[in-house]
Parts: sequence; C-alpha cells; structure tokens
Amino acid sequence: MEDFKPKFLAKSAMARKAADAAIGATKKALVEMARKHGRIVHLVHPAHTTMDCAQCGARTKHRLPLSERTYACTACGAVSPRDKNSARVMLVRAGLQPG
Ligand SMILES: [Zn+2]
Repeated sequence: MEDFKPKFLAKSAMARKAADAAIGATKKALVEMARKHGRIVHLVHPAHTTMDCAQCGARTKHRLPLSERTYACTACGAVSPRDKNSARVMLVRAGLQPG
C-alpha cells in the first residue's frame, strides 16, 4: 500500500484530522489483518507512482491528468493502464517482482 499522507485533500484543520484518522484506521486495519493471516504489508513512498514507468523506471516530465487512463512511457514505449502501471511501480518499490 502507499504510505499515503492526504494533505492535499484537507482544506481545514478539522477535515485534515478526520482524514488522517480515517487513513490511519484503514492502515491499521490492513496491517492487523495481514498480521492475523501471516501476510506482509509494505508501506511504499507514494511520490510519483503515477509518473514512473514500471518497465524502465523513467519518470514522465508531466503529471498525467486523471482523465488519461493509459500510461505511455516516452523512454521505452511501454503502454499499460495507468492503475496497473502504478501498482507495478509500487511492487517494484516494495522490493517485489511483479508477475
Ligand atoms: Zn519505460
């Protein structure tokens, strides 16, 4: 999972506290379930997971708009759905081999 810090979403101190608590509770529940079932949770630094290429590691110069659903790497030519690309970037960062 991304070690997500939702600061850009919160517009007030109260909203930030609520968001932090919700994210904290979700993280805690996930880690707890993993422990219970003998699985490992890797917290991955969330920066640029949508901008890095999962194939070659190149970083795009510009942020993909949310409406753009396909990631196309200008360095190696890899094309994949943006969420799949991000998921693979996270696996690589966690030190795992994406299958
Ligand atoms: Zn690439």
